[in-house]
Amino acid sequence: MSGTLYVVATPIGNREDMTYRAVRILQEVALIAAEDTRHSRKLLNHYGIATPLISYHEHNEESRSTQLIAKLQSGESIALISDAGTPCIADPGYRLVSSCHQEGVPVVAVPGPSAVVAALSISGLPTDDFRFVGFLPAKTHGRRQFLEQIKAEPQTVTCYEAPHRLLSCLADIAEICGADRLIAIARELTKLHEELFSGTVDAAQNYFGQGSVKGELVLLLSPAPQRQPEGTVKDVLQRLREETDLSWKEIVKQVAKEFGLTGSEVYKESLELRQK
Ligand code: SAM
Repeated sequence: MSGTLYVVATPIGNREDMTYRAVRILQEVALIAAEDTRHSRKLLNHYGIATPLISYHEHNEESRSTQLIAKLQSGESIALISDAGTPCIADPGYRLVSSCHQEGVPVVAVPGPSAVVAALSISGLPTDDFRFVGFLPAKTHGRRQFLEQIKAEPQTVTCYEAPHRLLSCLADIAEICGADRLIAIARELTKLHEELFSGTVDAAQNYFGQGSVKGELVLLLSPAPQRQPEGTVKDVLQRLREETDLSWKEIVKQVAKEFGLTGSEVYKESLELRQK
């Protein structure tokens, strides 16, 4: 019988954010695969966990995965952790998880902190539809190209960014996405100097431009303002009828979406035009 791979989240700063289940699983498994074994040993000591550690990081992911799969297939259970937060989220692990699926090894999540979800939950920005893009490209050219691609996204865009790049990144966002676009910046979540900035990109430049920026950051860009249709509902209904081959049903659906109305509201408005 194969063992199980447990993907275990650990705190992103505050050690009280470790779950009871995470502690138990980390004590019970035969081996813990960790990004930086020295860093993780200190964390595990804090919870009295003495399970052996093995390194698993971006430079040995492939070879180590083969080794870990062999151990799992021999019946040992293994936990995967990263330096902080949830493994595989802008952290190594996805290759190992994918290999487990291919080899029929069970994978179980032991959920807990993740900086992006924590930041999103307090950002005040729409959470029903969001996109996480990991770290922004580090070089200016790549970052600007990337911002061009996402500037019109109708969803909240979330990313990780290094503190020494924040100001140049905000300058690019102001230029490409607009200085009046709303942004939230979560800094040092769950730690002593935790803060959440929320306001326009322009205001963020003023706020963070006062001194050097330190600590860990999550950036959350509000959805692009959606273009308002020109004219009244009736105008747009009539224009679509005259200029397209769409059926009334399709027109009503499209106009309802454009104006943020229900289908029946637009249907009522269309009745007069239909009779003409
Ligand atoms: N896997 C982790 C997770 O689930 O959050 C993310 C790992 S990624 C290598 C590390 C980045 O996450 C940091 O550079 C920072 O952008 C963000 N981050 C991690 N901890 C944070 C915290 N306490 N506050 C704000 N951002 C944090």
